[in-house]
Amino acid sequence: MSKKKNDTLIQYFEWYLPEDCAHWKRCSKEAEQLKEAGITMAWLPPAYKGASGKYDVGYGVYDLYDLGEFQQKGTIPTKYGTKEEYIQAIESLQKEGIAVIADVVLNHKMGADELEQVKARMEAWDNRNQTVNGEEEIEAWTRFTFPERKGIYSDFQWDWNCFDGVDWDEKKKQKGVFLFAGKDWDGEVDGEYANYDYLMGADIDMSNQEVLEELKRWGKWYLDVTKADGFRLDAVKHIRFSFFNEWLREMRDYGKENFFAVGEYWSPDIGRLKNYLDKADRCMKLFDVPLHFNFQRASFGNGNFDMGSIFNGTLVNEESEFAVTFVDNHDTQPGQALQSWVMDWFKPLAYGLILLQEKGLPCVFYGDYYGIPHDNIQPVKGLDKLLLLRKNYAYGREHRYFDHQNIVGLTREGEPEWEKSGLALLVSDGPGGSKVMYVGEGKKGKTFYDYMGNRPEKVVIGEDGKGEFFVEGGSVSVWVEE
Ligand code: CA
Repeated sequence: MSKKKNDTLIQYFEWYLPEDCAHWKRCSKEAEQLKEAGITMAWLPPAYKGASGKYDVGYGVYDLYDLGEFQQKGTIPTKYGTKEEYIQAIESLQKEGIAVIADVVLNHKMGADELEQVKARMEAWDNRNQTVNGEEEIEAWTRFTFPERKGIYSDFQWDWNCFDGVDWDEKKKQKGVFLFAGKDWDGEVDGEYANYDYLMGADIDMSNQEVLEELKRWGKWYLDVTKADGFRLDAVKHIRFSFFNEWLREMRDYGKENFFAVGEYWSPDIGRLKNYLDKADRCMKLFDVPLHFNFQRASFGNGNFDMGSIFNGTLVNEESEFAVTFVDNHDTQPGQALQSWVMDWFKPLAYGLILLQEKGLPCVFYGDYYGIPHDNIQPVKGLDKLLLLRKNYAYGREHRYFDHQNIVGLTREGEPEWEKSGLALLVSDGPGGSKVMYVGEGKKGKTFYDYMGNRPEKVVIGEDGKGEFFVEGGSVSVWVEE
């Protein structure tokens, strides 16, 4: 087996998974099926104990060293299961040749064990460089001692010195952004609210040397224990832009040089994403958030979106090597913080585009693949077929046809190692129709059919390597050799 498969990432969770501590077991069970479906990489949810115990999706990090092993926050397992089950899930995936991408949340901690008296000043919510109240003593949840873990794996204990600020004064029962005395917010971070270092919980001070050492120690421990193949890095726009370059350097020196990393920089502004890539010395890929918003706008456009511009201003167009393309995720799904759900009818079109084009690493959302029972959302129609098309047909030179308001597409010429590979993708957000596209001279005289089953006819490729392909209104067709 020397032929190079297309990589496809799955985000293997959604926000409303059942709180049954059984997700790791499900993952182990599904590993083989995922491989068959064409998945080569799986991003698993944060695996450590959160402040809400078994109800925590994982982003309310309490103890980075508790992967479902200690009786903390009212439970031994996390929402997803025990440490043993987590390791088992990772091994099951890796056995099927699926690389495991671990979710790493280093911006903040929540659910401290004890309160501390701290001098702090309150900053304006919408301008974090503007003081609202002068320095006074507050009570902050900042002392993490992990009494149940008892120093196993690390005896590091966190106090207010490890953080820049919090959003709650227990003394006055008051909400606000409190910056601790003698501290500054991290720089450089995202410029929203003047300085968007503070997101939630107790914000970790990324200029504290002891903290930096502890986070490196933890990273190495985590790699030793889990044997993960890569990281998905949470909330990178709220952490000084130089941090992950240093931290990942250390992880790559310790583990694998080509260790995979993708960061979540949540912004529709391509300029901010490119600025981050520059400042972080291109040490990671980023999720293509601008493309997600193009998809969302197109899906709400009633067929009036200019499909010729669907990739305009996106990371995959401008920095394709560093783009992880996606349609939706656990934050954009209904009911969540960044809700911006792409409408159902458009999803097969969006997935067709990210899965079959050459550029970008596509990420399939669990909620799109399996559905979201919590909101009565069904699996995306035809997604399994599009994954197989990526796995078996989406190879070779690409020709792009983003030249029309409604009907756009692309073709792949195929590669000899993949029998009958090559394809012609056509999508329309408006009325149906056709387009003449070039699929390669090697395909002349060959008969193509719509793998998606949306169009009944056969298309015979001409002497010039071109065919006239068809698509229904608001639909996707993918033509391949019979
Ligand atoms: Ca921060």
